Amino acid sequence: MSDYADDLDAVIRLAHESHISTIITIGIDLQSSARAIELAQAHDRIYATVGIHPHEAKTATKETLDKLNVLAANPKVVGYGEIGLDYAKAYAPVDIQKTACRAQLQLAKALNLPVVIHDRDAHEDILTLLKEHAPFPAGGVMHCFSGDWQFAEEILKLGFYVSIPGIVTFKNATTLQQVARQVPLERLVIETDGPFLAPVPYRGKRNTPSLLLYTAEKIAELRDIPLTEVATATTVNAKNLFKLP
Ligand SMILES: [Zn+2]
Repeated sequence: MSDYADDLDAVIRLAHESHISTIITIGIDLQSSARAIELAQAHDRIYATVGIHPHEAKTATKETLDKLNVLAANPKVVGYGEIGLDYAKAYAPVDIQKTACRAQLQLAKALNLPVVIHDRDAHEDILTLLKEHAPFPAGGVMHCFSGDWQFAEEILKLGFYVSIPGIVTFKNATTLQQVARQVPLERLVIETDGPFLAPVPYRGKRNTPSLLLYTAEKIAELRDIPLTEVATATTVNAKNLFKLP
């Protein structure tokens, strides 16, 4: 995103200095998917996903999906998404969001790529869509998980991973903290969602991958386990999910 236009190299360097071994950068439309691949090709330890975010659902025409299908053949593409439903901002009508999501769930399955799912205020409907298209042999992740434990259990039943963002460090995020405590360690991953959702003590500032350490530290504290255990587990899980070398 443009938030990193001025200092992208420094952001990536600082991430690696902060022991972030691998970064997956995300496509949200055709253009950003192509850019994500470019970035991944320029850096050893960066990988990419391609897809059309629910905000951009109107652009998910057959022609665009055909182009994404071609882009997805790049060896640096390790997942399909973000795709899903967003009823909080609702930039696209619900029926268009659902159509775009369904088409891309099918495409991701045909490509044998794990899906990266975006869900805001749409828990019930996204679950319906995912169940419609289950099983997902290549797996998936509920990115920026925002539901309660009951919803997490449904997601886990689908074989998905649960991804915890910096929100878990916020004082009032008790529901997410409970989820972060209860998700089996072998199904937990962590994410930046940069430039958004910076963890405390950088809440409200630009988020960068190096700040992921604060998210990992909070999860370690919540689960009463060493930080290294969270770091190892989430690294292994991400490698398994995205089939990283
Ligand atoms: Zn998202």
